Amino acid sequence: MAQEHQLADRIADLLQQKYDTLKSSSKPVARSNGIKEWTVFAGIVAINTDTNDLRVISLATGVKALPNKELERSGGKMLHDGHAEIVALRGFNTVILQQIYQLKNGEETDLVIHSKDSEYYSFKSNLKIALYISQLPCGDISMRMLKERDIAPEELAIKDEDSIQYINQDNKTILRGRLNFNKKGYVRTKPGRLDSQLTKSKSCSDKLCMKQYTSILNCLTFQLLEQPVYLDYMIVPGMTTEMKEDIDLCFNKQFERCVGTRHEVCYLSTSKEFKDTRNTSDQEPSAIGAIKVFIGQGNSIEQTILNGVKNGSYTKKNKPLRKNCETLVSRFSQWQIFKEIEPKYSQMSYLDFKQSQHERRKLIDYTRSKMSPDGWISTQEDDCLP
Ligand SMILES: [Zn+2]
Repeated sequence: MAQEHQLADRIADLLQQKYDTLKSSSKPVARSNGIKEWTVFAGIVAINTDTNDLRVISLATGVKALPNKELERSGGKMLHDGHAEIVALRGFNTVILQQIYQLKNGEETDLVIHSKDSEYYSFKSNLKIALYISQLPCGDISMRMLKERDIAPEELAIKDEDSIQYINQDNKTILRGRLNFNKKGYVRTKPGRLDSQLTKSKSCSDKLCMKQYTSILNCLTFQLLEQPVYLDYMIVPGMTTEMKEDIDLCFNKQFERCVGTRHEVCYLSTSKEFKDTRNTSDQEPSAIGAIKVFIGQGNSIEQTILNGVKNGSYTKKNKPLRKNCETLVSRFSQWQIFKEIEPKYSQMSYLDFKQSQHERRKLIDYTRSKMSPDGWISTQEDDCLP
């Protein structure tokens, strides 16, 4: 246990050091009233089980998700979900794609290798994956830990018979944000103010829960890697034993009826607090997010994110998107690298490709049906055309 605690602290320290080197425009600022903004910080680290060396793969900050309405003009270029842990996971997939592209071009890579006697690639088997998050993921997990004083009265006041908590009245197993707060073990959309535009993006608890079955690969890396990659550790500051049990309960509740292989995550606590975390209730969240990917051989790319696109590229809702507004972790960017690796898909649209992956689709549909027996509510369709 002491060893695992040490591992968690080492990872938290390393990520904090990397955070410190981000551009100041990527970080929360002090507002004119002197109150500092807060954000959530997450990172993906590979642990070499032979040497114990740590290798940062991606890191991200952010607390925003785009309203569903915004996505109509996206064409794969806007990030639906800007929550730090989800963006960091997208960063992981971008790094895998970059490394496969490098391998294909005969370059050296440190995370991915050619599979023996096969057209596929493998993630190195001596690497374990840790996800660090500076606070508990939104949705069911964090709601189990909150005290009543942290909750808005309207979130508490909603009862089972109130229709406002449902996005679709025929679906009682997906709840909106934190409404009907005392209900536990349900899929929820990202929390937001009641007067804000609806996002259909699911909470980070739900997404992380799902990845214990479906892996942390997206449809593109799933196609290219011989074996899926799962999270081995989740590290959050100040996690008590009681919290770890609650997280297990949250995941178990949603998977009670699920058969198949669940790759359980080991939860570790660290005593290292993230410096731009929320400390007081009068602090506002930062609108800015960031992504940094470490693609190998000392190369890294950092981008600042605002409203789902690169900072400075956002246009008002009734206007088309700017050229090159997309971040390197967007669906559009990932699809471009993938088509370079696999030119045979270049005449296909992204969603057609995704639909063609029957086994993966079946796994996802099955997992969704267990998490939400009344059916799934998807976000706005967002395709990249050939
Ligand atoms: Zn979240």
